[in-house]
Amino acid sequence: MDFDHAPRTQAIAAQVEDIFQNDILPRNREYMVAAERDHDLTPALLTDLKKKAFGLGLWNMALPQLGDDDPGTRLSNLEFAAVAEILGRVGWASEVFNCHAPDTPNMEILQMFGTEAQKAEWLAPMLVGGIRSSFAMTEPDVASSDANNIATRIERRGDSYVINGRKWFATGAGNPNCRFLIVVGVTNPDAPRGRQQSMVIVPTDTPGLTIVRNLSVLHHVDHRTPHTELLFEDVEVPVSNRLGEEGGGFLIGQARLGPARVHHCMRAIGRCEVLIRLMVERASRRSTFGKAIREYSSVQAAISESRVALEQARLLVQRTAWRLDNEGNKAARKDVSLIKVAVARAYHDICNHGIQIFGAMGVTEDAPFAEALATARAFRIYDGPDEVHLQTIFRLEEKQGEGQDLLSAYTGRY
Ligand SMILES: Cc1cc2nc3c(=O)[nH]c(=O)nc-3n(C[C@H](O)[C@H](O)[C@H](O)COP(=O)(O)OP(=O)(O)OC[C@H]3O[C@@H](n4cnc5c(N)ncnc54)[C@H](O)[C@@H]3O)c2cc1C
Repeated sequence: MDFDHAPRTQAIAAQVEDIFQNDILPRNREYMVAAERDHDLTPALLTDLKKKAFGLGLWNMALPQLGDDDPGTRLSNLEFAAVAEILGRVGWASEVFNCHAPDTPNMEILQMFGTEAQKAEWLAPMLVGGIRSSFAMTEPDVASSDANNIATRIERRGDSYVINGRKWFATGAGNPNCRFLIVVGVTNPDAPRGRQQSMVIVPTDTPGLTIVRNLSVLHHVDHRTPHTELLFEDVEVPVSNRLGEEGGGFLIGQARLGPARVHHCMRAIGRCEVLIRLMVERASRRSTFGKAIREYSSVQAAISESRVALEQARLLVQRTAWRLDNEGNKAARKDVSLIKVAVARAYHDICNHGIQIFGAMGVTEDAPFAEALATARAFRIYDGPDEVHLQTIFRLEEKQGEGQDLLSAYTGRY
């Protein structure tokens, strides 16, 4: 079996690694101070690095079907794994290459379902990294892991849709450069389940749309890509802002979520790799009771268990990416759920091990584990809670065994 990426992918990953090592990592502190302390979300260093990555064509690498004239380098899902792991090491690296969430999956929706006019107005500026966007589905008042529950009303009045409802956790909506939302709501309340909802583009300056607040995740507010609560009061947009067919929201959601989940998992694996390296470094530098911490079997086990979990997750993610590329979203459905559960758990466990090895420093902002733990914990909920993915896995597992009588076959009895 050959697990190496093709030479072209390796060359692209080497270029990304070069920018990461020489331009991003040395300036990580500078960026964090600008974003976290000064709330400057587009510091000059980010703009400069984006120009550099754009100039090198290291751009839009996570997008599936770029038109011939669109900027950037298209990579398959499997090829993108080589790059995404590098980008995942620090939170803002993906934006340097215009490969960040939620904009990448939103661009993908526009590529696949947008009209020519929608593409010209909303996709084109995103492809060059000029504006940002957000995806607003989840609602505080209903259990949103079942998309059938979504209650925001998108009512047709003549040539307009009028939107009323409340959304939260619209990631990135509170970023000042966020110019539009993709909003999920009910257009056809009398249609069968799965055909009631549509997606519409809502410019962020539309009257009646209020940013209520940016939410914290385990007490941490992400100023770069805030998770925002939004109120829609008679928000009116033209019918031409609808994406795809009326009632086709589910279909679009499914198309969006497969690759988006895989990309999240790839970035998380890159982050976990850094966390393990930090644990090893720390364990060799501190001593207690006359021994280096690295000499304790519990510490060795924590690091080794982290490695076991990470390598399993990495291989599963790569296989899922391969299946998405070669067999499509539907065939890879179970795999996507498998990795969503496996990676989120591995990430969470690795953060916990890291905090323990770092002692008190592990729970502070002086080490990356506390923030990573908040992200990892939330990852077990967003893009579908663990339990919902386990339910999907079980259903597909059951389907696979339908009509068989394995007990008789394997025992020769009954
Ligand atoms: C950091 C972060 C970023 C997010 N970004 C976005 C975004 O950009 N856009 C957006 O629209 N949403 C976003 N979300 C919201 C996220 O997708 C939802 O929180 C998620 O779908 C779960 O919905 P809920 O919170 O309403 O939980 P609920 O649906 O109320 O579920 C609560 C719990 O019930 C249990 N449960 C639910 N179903 C089952 C089941 N079938 N079997 C067993 N137990 C079950 C699970 O334990 C689950 O965690 C984000 C969330 C977080 C934390």
